[in-house]
Amino acid sequence: MQIISGAAVAEKVLEECRREIAELAALGRKPGLAVVLIGDDPASRAYVRSKDKKCRDLGLHSVKLELPVTTTQDELLAHVHALNNDPAIHGILVQSPPPKHIDEAAIVRAIDPAKDVDGFHPVNVAKLALEDSTGFVPCTPLGCQRLLIDAGIETSGAHAVVVGRSMIVGKPMALLLMAKGKGGDATVTVTHSRTKNLAAITRTADIIIAAIGRPHFIKAEHVKEGAVVIDVGINRVDDPTTEKGYKLVGDVAFDEVAPKCRAITPVPGGVGPMTIAMLMANTIKACKQAS
Ligand code: NDP
Repeated sequence: MQIISGAAVAEKVLEECRREIAELAALGRKPGLAVVLIGDDPASRAYVRSKDKKCRDLGLHSVKLELPVTTTQDELLAHVHALNNDPAIHGILVQSPPPKHIDEAAIVRAIDPAKDVDGFHPVNVAKLALEDSTGFVPCTPLGCQRLLIDAGIETSGAHAVVVGRSMIVGKPMALLLMAKGKGGDATVTVTHSRTKNLAAITRTADIIIAAIGRPHFIKAEHVKEGAVVIDVGINRVDDPTTEKGYKLVGDVAFDEVAPKCRAITPVPGGVGPMTIAMLMANTIKACKQAS
């Protein structure tokens, strides 16, 4: 059984990023990422801080816009428009979830698709479906695909079952796996909360992508011998033995599932580090594509 180290593959992606940043620097160009945070949700703050730090570590231009929870839709749109028009910024993301009074879909649509490094703008969703490689693919599924490729998992002709159909993970993951080419060409089944006999379906999978948001949901009974399991889930569960009083666990019951697997990602240290690495890669791609 192979444990697929997201940390190791993410480091490889970041090494590629460093090389590309140096090439761009030689041309006098520097990729820039702006991350917009509204409100003071601690988890969102932590994500934004880590994105900002990763940018700075790599030598990217990083703008961190921390706006008060009282920011109106119009004020936020004005910030997005300013970033759209800022030539030093190639990637823009608005940290999710925003406060309830913000219409998130309208904000996503206001971001210039050429700077939408999260890949959530309808233009980029369409480009993914059209297999147009100039588009931006959401970072988490892109990272999952890269993990499969780097771990030498053959997706062509494999039956991949995606558990979850969100716009952030499940749907783009399914599109990537069914696309033609490397890391694709799979036969894809997408499942969700209305799926009947889920375990019977996942047991036919050569590859399972678990993106559910429920701790330890995928059990040994869901997995056939020799399957590959990618665990996207990040769930906080109480753990009084830790300093923080909680720990992070995946959507997969790792201890009982891992022994059946050919390969599996751990949580933490699996998909998580890939997401931020792919964000950096998308920002560099946006800079390269900017005229
Ligand atoms: P969502 O809540 O948006 O989607 C969850 C999906 O799981 C839905 O499609 C839902 O079905 C499905 N689901 C829920 N319950 C069941 C069930 N009992 N059986 C089958 N399917 C079910 O979550 P996200 O896609 O945003 O995130 C999924 C997980 O991935 C979370 O743990 C999240 O924290 C993590 N995540 C991790 C990232 C990383 O960087 N590693 C990045 C993004 C997310 P339905 O549509 O019918 O409601």
